[in-house]
Amino acid sequence: MKSEIWLSSPHMGGMEKRFVEEAFLQNWIAPMGPDIIKFEESLADYTGVGYAVALSSGTSAIHLGLQLLGVMKGDEVICQSLTFVATANPVMYLGATPVFVDSEKGSWNMDPEALEAAIKDRLAKGKKVKAIIPVHLYGMPAKMDAILEIAERYEIPVLEDAAESLGSRIGAKQTGKFGHLAVVSFNGNKIITTSGGGALLSDSEEYINKARFLATQAKEEVVHYEHKEMGYNYRMSNISACIGRGQMLVLDERIQQRRKNFDFYIEQLDFSGISFQHESEKVFSNRWLTAIQVNPELTGVSGDEIRLALLADNIESRPVWKPMHMQPLFQDCAYYGNQVAEELYTYGLCLPSGSNLTTGALNRVGTIIKGMLKHQNPRKQFDEDERNLSSQLVFASQ
Ligand SMILES: *Cc1c(COP(=O)(O)O)cnc(C)c1O
Repeated sequence: MKSEIWLSSPHMGGMEKRFVEEAFLQNWIAPMGPDIIKFEESLADYTGVGYAVALSSGTSAIHLGLQLLGVMKGDEVICQSLTFVATANPVMYLGATPVFVDSEKGSWNMDPEALEAAIKDRLAKGKKVKAIIPVHLYGMPAKMDAILEIAERYEIPVLEDAAESLGSRIGAKQTGKFGHLAVVSFNGNKIITTSGGGALLSDSEEYINKARFLATQAKEEVVHYEHKEMGYNYRMSNISACIGRGQMLVLDERIQQRRKNFDFYIEQLDFSGISFQHESEKVFSNRWLTAIQVNPELTGVSGDEIRLALLADNIESRPVWKPMHMQPLFQDCAYYGNQVAEELYTYGLCLPSGSNLTTGALNRVGTIIKGMLKHQNPRKQFDEDERNLSSQLVFASQ
């Protein structure tokens, strides 16, 4: 059996182990300690966001972020439909209801037109839309200028799901700095990992202090155990933060490695019928995962057939996220848009994208895929035409 090639596996830099050993020597093996503080400082420094609180997961960060924005039972939260379920689950933890919005074809992220249509319709139906959650899918920044303009016009706060996009930018501004609050994740498959963890970021010190308070059981600052509010146990372990400190030292290198994977794939898979997420002008993606769209009419093969062929060679690839509005869990939720997210899901495939992939590994993947594609004119009518189709919104009536 050939050696396994993973979709996205942890990639340590070297200092992580040393920071962990130092913490052991000083017995800082707790959900508090000096490494958490240093890790939070490095996150704020790197992203340019004022304040950061390190938490047990990206999901817990979204939960706290929505609570800080005042999301309550009976409210609605507008979410990008094409995402991992962790974006939407916390909406329900709070007793609120997600409303899903389609993607646009370039970035694969929240379509501003569908967003505005959703807001108008929800307001017309007398609903309280308390927050908007755009996602920077696979590291590609969403169209934040347009999204923020709409959000401001309707006075709805934005929580940015930057779980996959640490290090991505629009112009000089890092993802995570656009929303009132933003979330990053350090799960094992993300661009850097703490083995599991997340963080909430904001320019508001008040928000971050409140999040830290809620994440430590909402314990009042007195000697005895005094509680006025319901809290959670959501703090990151100091040992995880040691790993995170080491990973921050190699983040830029990891981004370069992932971008090189993308460069490899886009060069090798230069066939019409294969297209990629589009990095528009001024945008810089960390290219966390390289995902392709496979148009079987042009390639002669489906994304799933490619996935199975890779699997037979011990190579892991995955479908693009199945949109939330197609999930049984969310079958009663409203959805605004047309078929873009469905299409991206139907034709999408995420390719091995780890920063630790060798040239040999990439070549194995490339060779298998190329061998399956019909050899016709390379490139590129498909993407450009598809991308430029203006979206015709079809509204779900709810
Ligand atoms: C990973 C991820 C999360 C959640 O992060 P966890 O740390 O796994 O809880 C949230 N949103 C998106 C889009 C993600 O990919």
